[in-house]
Amino acid sequence: MPGGLLETALERMAANSTWQGDCLVWGGNVDPKGYGRLNVAKSGKLVHRLSWLIHFGPPPSDKPCVLHTCDNPPCWNPEHLWVGTVPENTADMIAKGRLVPHYLNLTHCKHGHPLSGDNLYMTPDGRRNCRACRREAARRYQAR
Ligand SMILES: [Zn+2]
Ligand SMILES: [Zn+2]
Repeated sequence: MPGGLLETALERMAANSTWQGDCLVWGGNVDPKGYGRLNVAKSGKLVHRLSWLIHFGPPPSDKPCVLHTCDNPPCWNPEHLWVGTVPENTADMIAKGRLVPHYLNLTHCKHGHPLSGDNLYMTPDGRRNCRACRREAARRYQAR
């Protein structure tokens, strides 16, 4: 694709996206799998693939799949993308479906406190914890 088209695509992507944490999330049309779609020169393109093309150039022929480290299909933050082979793509999807712990996707703790902003506590091993519940647990512990 000519460079001008990519620049226009990037402007449209930026205008239709929002930051959600570290993810730059496309807010326009998505395909049935949740991947962002954008028409460039009258043909539908996948937004995360466009992002890779814009930032890094075409994926190598032996690694044609643009994959997400963040498991967020509409995200096109170039830092969350990597290229892999078709088998790697399949293995990645299987691993994510099976191995991504459900708590990574939680927005609230089991007591309904938001797992975001000041209330979100990241443990050293990467788990998301609720500060309010940690305080409560510490208070109960001290009251014994
Ligand atoms: Zn992301
Ligand atoms: Zn809580």
